[in-house]
Amino acid sequence: MYLSDNKVNYIIHHLKHHLEAEDFPQDAIEVLKRPDDLPDDSKNRIVFILSEEEIPNPVFLNFRGHKIPVLFSNAIPDEKIFHIDDRGNVIFHHDLLSSAFYLLSGLQETETTEKDRFGRFPYDLSIQKKLNCVHLPLVNYYFEMIIDGVEAHARLQDKEIRRKRLFDNFGLFLSHDVDRVAFYHPFHVLYKIKQIMGLAPVNYSKIKAAGLFFRGVFYNLNPFRGQDPWWNFDWMMNLEKRLGIRSTFFFLRQEDRFDNSLYKYHYKKIKALITKISKEGFEAGLHGTMRSATDAKNLLQQKSEFSRVTGIEPVGIRQHYLRFSHPLTFKNQQAAGLKYDTSLAFAEHDGYRNGYCWPFRPFDFENDKMMQIWEIPLVMMEVSVLNYRKAGFSGLQEAVAHYITEAEKFGGIFSLLWHNCRLSDIEIPGVTEFYEHLLKEIMQHNPEPVRGIDVYRKIEADRYEFN
Ligand SMILES: [Zn+2]
Repeated sequence: MYLSDNKVNYIIHHLKHHLEAEDFPQDAIEVLKRPDDLPDDSKNRIVFILSEEEIPNPVFLNFRGHKIPVLFSNAIPDEKIFHIDDRGNVIFHHDLLSSAFYLLSGLQETETTEKDRFGRFPYDLSIQKKLNCVHLPLVNYYFEMIIDGVEAHARLQDKEIRRKRLFDNFGLFLSHDVDRVAFYHPFHVLYKIKQIMGLAPVNYSKIKAAGLFFRGVFYNLNPFRGQDPWWNFDWMMNLEKRLGIRSTFFFLRQEDRFDNSLYKYHYKKIKALITKISKEGFEAGLHGTMRSATDAKNLLQQKSEFSRVTGIEPVGIRQHYLRFSHPLTFKNQQAAGLKYDTSLAFAEHDGYRNGYCWPFRPFDFENDKMMQIWEIPLVMMEVSVLNYRKAGFSGLQEAVAHYITEAEKFGGIFSLLWHNCRLSDIEIPGVTEFYEHLLKEIMQHNPEPVRGIDVYRKIEADRYEFN
């Protein structure tokens, strides 16, 4: 099926951010359905030929040191990216526009109704898994291929183009979902019994679970007990301040079911924490409850409650469990007045769910148009690597180094989610030391540390007229 004009324009809109505005050759662009649709007298055009295919039919091209799968490839079947004919037309061989659209818009997620037990699009069904390419921001590679063609076109006219980066080096967007704040909360202590009995999943031995259960009982009985290991916000903020990082914390309220948090925004301790976080230059955002992913009214309620209680208007959101229904969740977030979401990664695997390491606008398939809200793609959640992939600390470190290389290549973002409740040495021995070391290592690559709100402001300041 050929891309509609709106879909083509959606991709062009994003492509434009990668070039200085005056250098984008809008008038030279020709989008055709067949190679012979190009009139015989055309000169100096930039020609894209759309694919008719409904499903990806990839070809692998060698580009910038990688084998890059181009999803829609049947225009001119060879391994070149473009050629220049004798009338100075730059003709792209493969359908880079449809390939970019397929990934960026999340089209693949609308093609199935199958979800995992948390209502999420499963990594197992993705084209990234099939082609083993989740670790590459393919859309950024496609845009580079196109810009190479645009550059060749400019050179024929003795002109130069200036490429643009979002960050000089790359952006580090560190964030924390505040799911659980009390390791020794009776609910969590009693939950250990379920784990010991094999009725709930556990990431360590049952003997250790039993040890933690008794530890929890004693903690609750001890009138001189110390700080709870999950109330570690001062430690987290101090570490980041020392390293020059400012992160975003997303807060989840308690709701009718146990799969959200066990706190409410108006609890004295929570309210004080949120105030402190934002006073010290960190960002406080919404962590949408399980229900809010598909319930617009529920989301709106959460947002107004958060602003009423804390006096802070949240700008960004991440959905709890990365629970997301594409594009309904975006619509609800936009309707609630939120400016950015940062939920889009696969839960089961780190990498690029939409193939892009820059912020992007979602696509509304029902109305065939671009939406206003921004997505700041999440690249890595620590649980995906440690629990789902079981890659360990060394695997996580390797993966981080790889994503930094990709982000540096494109002046994009490396976005890392680390839960405060995954920073307790009692449960995960050695984790605080590892985490501290990891952040130091990342900072040695000279990123620009940004909060979600900073990314939003940056991309808005740079934006092209929204239409
Ligand atoms: Zn969560």
